[in-house]
Amino acid sequence: MQTNTPLPTSADLHAPQTGPDLRHRQLLDGPWWQARIPAWSDASEATFHDPKWQIRNSVRKVSQMRDLLGDRASEAFLQEVDEAIRKAPMVMRLTPYVFSLIDWANPWEDPLRRQFIPLAREIEPNHPMSKLDSLGEQRDAPVPGLVHRYPDKVLFLALDVCPVYCRFCTRSYAIGSDTDAVDKISLGASNARWEQAFEYLRNTPQVEDVVVSGGDAYLLSAGKLQVIFDNLLAIPHIRRIRLATKGLAIMPQKITGDEKWLDTLTHYAQKARRQGVHIAVHTHANHPREITAATERSMAMLFERGITVRNQSVLQAGVNDDPDTMRTLVKRLSHVNVHPYYVYTHDMVPGVETLRTTLDTALEIEKAVRGSTAGFNTPTFVCDAEGGGGKRDAHSFEYYNRELGIAVFRSPNVDDTTPYFYFDPLRELSPEARRAWNHPVLRERIVQTAVEQAGFGPVH
Ligand code: SF4
Repeated sequence: MQTNTPLPTSADLHAPQTGPDLRHRQLLDGPWWQARIPAWSDASEATFHDPKWQIRNSVRKVSQMRDLLGDRASEAFLQEVDEAIRKAPMVMRLTPYVFSLIDWANPWEDPLRRQFIPLAREIEPNHPMSKLDSLGEQRDAPVPGLVHRYPDKVLFLALDVCPVYCRFCTRSYAIGSDTDAVDKISLGASNARWEQAFEYLRNTPQVEDVVVSGGDAYLLSAGKLQVIFDNLLAIPHIRRIRLATKGLAIMPQKITGDEKWLDTLTHYAQKARRQGVHIAVHTHANHPREITAATERSMAMLFERGITVRNQSVLQAGVNDDPDTMRTLVKRLSHVNVHPYYVYTHDMVPGVETLRTTLDTALEIEKAVRGSTAGFNTPTFVCDAEGGGGKRDAHSFEYYNRELGIAVFRSPNVDDTTPYFYFDPLRELSPEARRAWNHPVLRERIVQTAVEQAGFGPVH
């Protein structure tokens, strides 16, 4: 049967890509900061995309925000920031790139602002089970800054500074300077500390996989990267190295503007491949607006050089805890050749309860995302179990009581006999359940019952 529908012409095929299903391809470009941030109205594209300018102009103080924004930020807003910073576990630091992507017409609700800039109105009491080192990393560190939890993988915390400080950081116990609320332990990038880590790895043949993190590997100089890669590539049993940096999401300019750093990474990625070792980069974008045409240009350079990039997001209330945002994020990451690897539930970090979601939210969003794109580009939703159980698929709980907001996980490759937990935020529970959690005897009974229901013996 013949139809009268014409075949698409070349003009049709190259028509502007619009419509709800193609939003992930619409990337912000051009000098957007000039119209948004009064103090940068004269900053040219060359200036703004210079990585050294980005670092020099990091935003760290409320007074600086006032100078940059003029009357675009109200005094009431700035006062709330000032009050909240004094109680927060992290100091404030944003790159101009991220700062300029915040919607300053409505910063109160903005998902990028929520990740980096605290507000007094968002302070909530901590969940009674929250802990500063909620994943027990220090307990599982045979030498300072080297976490050995899984049989064949370690986490090497090479440094304790980042180009931005995230409110939700699980490593608030060490990262950034001390705050009024937290005295941090030091994990500075010293050769002596690093040598202890390399020596441990040389003597631990079961380790095949090393995540180099911190802090942010973006702030390691090319020379420091060289020291790390030379040492790790000289250990024959190490087969996989992952360089963890939030940098690609919050300052993509380093890839396009720091030739020495990129060439060092490329050199070692190629050298490693010739040895049968895979070096990949892991990054951390949480919201589709963090990915712009500048990100696309950076990722294209890494892609062309054969460097694999994977993304790990943190599920956060008011940031990305709705299916539409998460779907767009996942598709946009795939569009710029980043593999959406994990979405984590928010860790039990004190001081940022406002950002946590229930485990159920993770399950619902996973359901909504799965099927929207190819399976290999669909992230696994995981819970990094409180107390050091490691990453567990969010669906794999042994027991989950939604009324009391407690889930119990088993982690056979870490410790099969210990129950590990996730606790929903109290704000999502009934007044009766909240009262029970705040009562020490009832709290213990809730935990004990959940552990028994999950099939573990009594906890003493
Ligand atoms: S960049 Fe990573 S290590 Fe640094 S503050 Fe953010 S989450 Fe923590």
